[in-house]
Amino acid sequence: MTARPVAIALGGNLGDVRAAFRTALTALAAAEGVRVVAVSPLYRTAPVGGVEQDDFLNAAALLAVGLEPLALLAVLQRLEAAAERVREERWGPRTLDLDVLWWDGVAIGEPGLVVPHPRLHERRFALQPLLDVVPRAADAAGRPYRAVLAALPAGEVEVVGGPGVVYDPTCSDR
Ligand code: ADP
Ligand code: MG
Repeated sequence: MTARPVAIALGGNLGDVRAAFRTALTALAAAEGVRVVAVSPLYRTAPVGGVEQDDFLNAAALLAVGLEPLALLAVLQRLEAAAERVREERWGPRTLDLDVLWWDGVAIGEPGLVVPHPRLHERRFALQPLLDVVPRAADAAGRPYRAVLAALPAGEVEVVGGPGVVYDPTCSDR
């Protein structure tokens, strides 16, 4: 299967989130059919959804994926489980959330997987890192996410550092 560009979101606000991101990206780089091409800077964002909790760290990664969409989702969910993710309430604290944001040339509307991510267009903390790794990304109607982001109200999204990610460069030509 030909590998296609895919952007995923990484988020978390419980425990050592940077370490959880590093572990997940290292595992992704080692996963069959997945290559890590680029990682955005790290952002700190205030939580959405009204639950009282710590700020989130957010980032995006550009992958080259030679898997079917549901197979990639299964890999992401396995990594979330490996991070011992505890979910007590929707939009509550979590150690690691991995979402498929954008899949080049692909739109999916299945019960378990919606791509582009259904809330991407309203989330500065997802759009900004997506555009860091795929500046040309556009929605299913062809509208550039750069324009979608520019039209959003100002929000609290602060860069807190580079990705600090180490993944095996010898995997980069898989
Ligand atoms: P959220 O990320 O919306 O806060 P969860 O991470 O608990 O919530 O995901 C809930 C469900 O969302 C998952 O079981 C998954 O099947 C579904 N889902 C639908 N579209 C996507 C997507 N683009 N990326 C990740 N999960 C998705
Ligand atoms: Mg999720």
